[in-house]
Amino acid sequence: MIKTDQDLDEIGEKARSGREIGEDDIVYMYDYADINQLGRIAGSIAREISGNKVSFVSNMIMNYTNICNVRCSFCAFYRTGKENDSYTMTIDQVVSEIRKYYDAYGIKQLLIQGGVNPSLDLEYYLNLFSRIRDEFPGLGIHGLSTSEISFISKKARISVRDLLDLLRKNGLETIPGAGAEIFDDDVRRILNRPRGSGQEWLDIMETAHSMGIRTSATMMFGHVEASINKAHHLLSILKLQKKYGGFLSFTPWNFEPGNTRLEREGYVKQRSSSEDVLRNIAIARIVFNKYLPVIQTSWLTNGIEMGQLAIIFGANDWGGTIYNEKVIPATGKDVGNLKKDLIIDAVRQIGMIPVERDNLYHEVSVF
Ligand code: SF4
Repeated sequence: MIKTDQDLDEIGEKARSGREIGEDDIVYMYDYADINQLGRIAGSIAREISGNKVSFVSNMIMNYTNICNVRCSFCAFYRTGKENDSYTMTIDQVVSEIRKYYDAYGIKQLLIQGGVNPSLDLEYYLNLFSRIRDEFPGLGIHGLSTSEISFISKKARISVRDLLDLLRKNGLETIPGAGAEIFDDDVRRILNRPRGSGQEWLDIMETAHSMGIRTSATMMFGHVEASINKAHHLLSILKLQKKYGGFLSFTPWNFEPGNTRLEREGYVKQRSSSEDVLRNIAIARIVFNKYLPVIQTSWLTNGIEMGQLAIIFGANDWGGTIYNEKVIPATGKDVGNLKKDLIIDAVRQIGMIPVERDNLYHEVSVF
């Protein structure tokens, strides 16, 4: 594909005028486009959408179990149930863990997800969610990956729609984008994801959106995928977004290889470069444009300075304070507990305005 910087101007123009960015355009942006020019286009689109405001949420992650029968090759978190450090929390344990952060930090969002644990049934989830809703009324429950949703519905022999309806009645507010990775099956085979699970992710999200349940979208890059796989991924999300507008945000995650089978088997030798992280942010911003207004940084794996650069390259949401996260530490990476003040300072340092939001992206405070 022979394209030039002029083509990138044309792609930028297409984005600004709301015309669709095609598969070839996306592959070009991944493989050839100048990163600085990409950043300029993406940054200007982000400023048109949200001005100088950068949102964040005070939140925590509750990984209620690490036992999982899916066993993805990119995951360092799961246990089979036989190891000493396998765990499943009781509802009382979950509640007392949340209380530590709810009272101390005024968290607004609870991201709750864990492994696909065959010993847990529908009752556990309904009781868990209703208890959290009753004990912590100011908390938006952002819960369960599509893998968990699929398994729970099959085990309970009810449709995904009926399951989501029950979960919503018991407190579920939104669904995170986990489980998306890269949709194409040839990539998912190496990730050890079941065949068709990419389409299943899209189907579950479509069901949720058609019921008025808002969700997030993600993409995991920096493993065995090619640019065309990322193009398919972004365009599939865009297509669904045009139908219901149900995605609240999109986060491109770079794969953390530490302690994973993909690393041990030699598929991935090192993590994505900073340039690659910024390229993915910028391309997402250009492709989704105003259809999906919020692009979130993945500071959790990349640190504060990369979070700041991601904002300059087109992101407009910092993500969360993320107290209590356990999945990334399983890769051997210490992410610490980034507190609200640090996020506010980091956003201000690059001349932007920090805005605290809730789980549904309503503004809570402007700093
Ligand atoms: S990514 Fe999720 S579904 Fe896959 S092995 Fe880890 S916990 Fe299980």
